[in-house]
Amino acid sequence: MSIFVGIHDFFGLIFHRKFYSEKAIKKYQFKQLNKLLKFAMKNSEFYNELYTNYPINSLEDFHKLPSINKKIMMDNFSKLNTCKIDKEDVLNFAVKKEQDKDYYGYYNDEYVIGLSSGTSGNKGVYITPKAMTKRLPFVFLARSGLPLRILPYRILFMLRVFSQGFEDINNFLVSLKYLSTMENIDKIISSINNNKINILMAPPSLIRQILPRQSEIKVRLKRIVTYAEVLDKVERDKIEKIFKTKVIEIYQASEGQMASACSKGHLHINEDLVYVELYDKFNNLITKPGVVGHKMFITNLINYAQPLIRYEMNDMIILDEKCECGSNYRRIDKILGRTDDILYFYKENMEIQYIFPDLFVRWIIVVSDEIREFKIIQNKIGELDITIDIGKNISQTDIVTKLRQKIQDELELFAIDMIVINIVVEEIKLPTTMNKYKRFVSNIDND
Ligand SMILES: [Zn+2]
Repeated sequence: MSIFVGIHDFFGLIFHRKFYSEKAIKKYQFKQLNKLLKFAMKNSEFYNELYTNYPINSLEDFHKLPSINKKIMMDNFSKLNTCKIDKEDVLNFAVKKEQDKDYYGYYNDEYVIGLSSGTSGNKGVYITPKAMTKRLPFVFLARSGLPLRILPYRILFMLRVFSQGFEDINNFLVSLKYLSTMENIDKIISSINNNKINILMAPPSLIRQILPRQSEIKVRLKRIVTYAEVLDKVERDKIEKIFKTKVIEIYQASEGQMASACSKGHLHINEDLVYVELYDKFNNLITKPGVVGHKMFITNLINYAQPLIRYEMNDMIILDEKCECGSNYRRIDKILGRTDDILYFYKENMEIQYIFPDLFVRWIIVVSDEIREFKIIQNKIGELDITIDIGKNISQTDIVTKLRQKIQDELELFAIDMIVINIVVEEIKLPTTMNKYKRFVSNIDND
């Protein structure tokens, strides 16, 4: 790849987010969507059949196109991608890589293959052409939310599995070391020290494990970047205080680079990389902040190898007010369902009230610093099975009593008093098979 392409990408990405008006964003998106549709109709048998008789003259027309989801995408994989990649071949390749724990290398020397398990347990395969992954360093520099003044970045990236796509980010300005999220804390700390790491990227559940041993870190971390789990504001403050550095979030899915932090540390949708549609229960487009949506569709604007057009995500985002940074890219207040489920209760009048997991996180972590990890499972509306992992030399009964009281008090403010809370104290092992740790599991069917 020419360095000029990269520099062009970099300034383009900076410029778009900083200066595009809402109108300019829509105009840009419509143009990109048309380009993508035209390409997909020509090169993908699947889309060619799906979109016959749908003239597209506006964004509203685009919104009428039939949507797809992971199952439809996988069922039609070989006909959908534009690189003539066969599903069975590529699945075998990806599964073998996973078994061999060999995460480097390209498929047919051309494509980076990503594998996702997802909440429903079905595998998703995602193709990124080599030419595109070579451009990623510039996207990363422009959209990581990391200030350029702390270059060169020496990053420790904690991931369940590594991929060639991340390896391709390495260049003279960015060095990316990888460790598995299952690695023990000793090794993580020595890797930070030995590699003079200045940026730590990890899910919040892992940062929480490192917190008590912060004093063993001998180098100065300049940023902590979290992903894959919701980071509560109170928890972020705590991590920032203890590590004496800023914490920023990125929101990355297998389907696209969804959102990244601005200079003020707030998450914005990457409007020039993904086109995001949010709908309420009545199928109306959501444009206002604070509304909990029902469906979210994304269209990846830059992936032509495997066009994902009006693809329904399992996640849901809630929009925020306009950001003080001045960008017109939609700002995200909360991401739901990415990992955690919402919990349900009955109010005094028997109406159902839902509570977001991030509220629970706040209530629990303020009860005691000794709660190292926790998990909440809900099998019935109004019932909670809570497991907490606490230090050995602490009075368990004290913490359990306090925690129960705190949850009761907080729920009462929502007029919820019919609750059953079961609390057990036991060591919590983080799962080995998923990179997304679920702290909140609801087995209630709420559709
Ligand atoms: Zn902002």
